[in-house]
Amino acid sequence: MIIDDKKLIFELPETGGRRQYIPEGERLTKDLEAWYGQDKMRDELDFPNLSEIQVIRHYTNLSAKNYGVENGPYPLGSCTMKYNPKVNEDVTAMPKFAGLHPMQPCPTVQGTLKVMHDHELALCDLTGMDRFTFQPAAGAHGELTGILLIHAYHLDKGDEKRKYMLIPDSAHGTNPASAVMAGFKVREVKSNPSGEVDIEDLKAKLDDEVAGMMLTNPNTLGIFDPNTAEIAKLVHEAGGLMYYDGANLNPIMMHVRPGDMGYDVVHLNVHKTLSTPHGGGGPGAGPVGCKEFLAPYLPYPVLTEEDGQYYWDYDRPKSYGRVRSFYGPIAVYLRSHAFMLANGVEGLADAAEAAVANANYLYYSLKDLYDTSSDNPVMHEFVFSGDRQAKQGCTTMDLAKRMIDYGIHPPTVYFPLTVHEAMMVEPTDTETKEGLDKIVHTFKEIAKEVETNPELLHEAPHHTPVRRPDEVKAAKDLVLKYTK
Ligand SMILES: *Cc1c(COP(=O)(O)O)cnc(C)c1O
Repeated sequence: MIIDDKKLIFELPETGGRRQYIPEGERLTKDLEAWYGQDKMRDELDFPNLSEIQVIRHYTNLSAKNYGVENGPYPLGSCTMKYNPKVNEDVTAMPKFAGLHPMQPCPTVQGTLKVMHDHELALCDLTGMDRFTFQPAAGAHGELTGILLIHAYHLDKGDEKRKYMLIPDSAHGTNPASAVMAGFKVREVKSNPSGEVDIEDLKAKLDDEVAGMMLTNPNTLGIFDPNTAEIAKLVHEAGGLMYYDGANLNPIMMHVRPGDMGYDVVHLNVHKTLSTPHGGGGPGAGPVGCKEFLAPYLPYPVLTEEDGQYYWDYDRPKSYGRVRSFYGPIAVYLRSHAFMLANGVEGLADAAEAAVANANYLYYSLKDLYDTSSDNPVMHEFVFSGDRQAKQGCTTMDLAKRMIDYGIHPPTVYFPLTVHEAMMVEPTDTETKEGLDKIVHTFKEIAKEVETNPELLHEAPHHTPVRRPDEVKAAKDLVLKYTK
């Protein structure tokens, strides 16, 4: 259902006065008219005839309908919606960074290249890898980049029969999608009842056609898989490589490193672990790190230092090519580097612990009211099943919609697919005690409402301009252009 304040700017009453603040004789208007032709400018630029204050009110009110981590709790599991500190923005806005052009010759951008170089060293320290590429523009893009690296490695060794990528059934949906985009077929590995990789099933799926395994740890159920070293050993013995989906590095950073757990390639989601902005489609970054033996295959150019001078090395005969233009989303890396420097080793280790403590605070405050997906201790996130509530007539969708009325962002719902009526909750390290208590209060109240007033949930949310959009239609049938 749509209520009336959802009007587009083209639908507002045209009260005139569009040019009230741009006097007719203004130079800009004149130049434009001269260049474009006065009539054309009037006809083709079909701006609504509104006054400045109408426009400002329209956009200010629209912005107030948005909900972000700067409004309140945002426990969207798997997405790690942590707060992006303002100092990150200050650094990125410094004119010496903001004014750069990607085609400037290297000698004129030495400062920025040094920051990139330092950031590469910092990410190597964080992950236990030897080299990084900064090209990938998102986590999923990083996965594709890393899987192509594994592909290039096997091909270079003349090992062409390895066409399978092993992926656990609890994996994030981007993992199988990336493996298929890189030309592999997926072999699914089952989870055991505790949510860990089922070692017997893994053994059954390993052979000399396996190129590698994609794994995230802690996994998407928020469980740390204690068998990673054994898994890596088994995959390596079969000639495969280990890919670490680093989207879940946040709760273990500076405590344990993928490179020490047996992984050969990683991608990081700097927007999840290192606080860069997030949501709304970007800007993102998904840097990919690898062990030295894979470095020759990395996308070119590769940042190189010689005698204190930095330059981009294009002479990489084994590289499989580029995955993005220019150097990668550098403004994002300025933010992640600022975050690492501001926190230092101890600060990052503390953030990891806070992510785990906050998730456990929620988990143990609520686990009697909702069904749980595993008995293992949780890390940075956990999955409840809404089965109990569904049996009483309120689905997970109803619960999530009702949470909006309480002023929090709902958790991720119906994912992972291995859990019925799933609700995946991740408060992140930056959530406050007050925010955590608001989440607890909301989940408790809603569990009560399921018993006392289920109708309230069926009709929720009650106070938003759009209430229950058709999500499939919204995703598949994008309307990007206004037509009268
Ligand atoms: C978020 C996430 C991804 C995908 O990252 P994007 O930056 O959204 O493309 C991949 N794997 C896991 C486990 C994730 O949580």
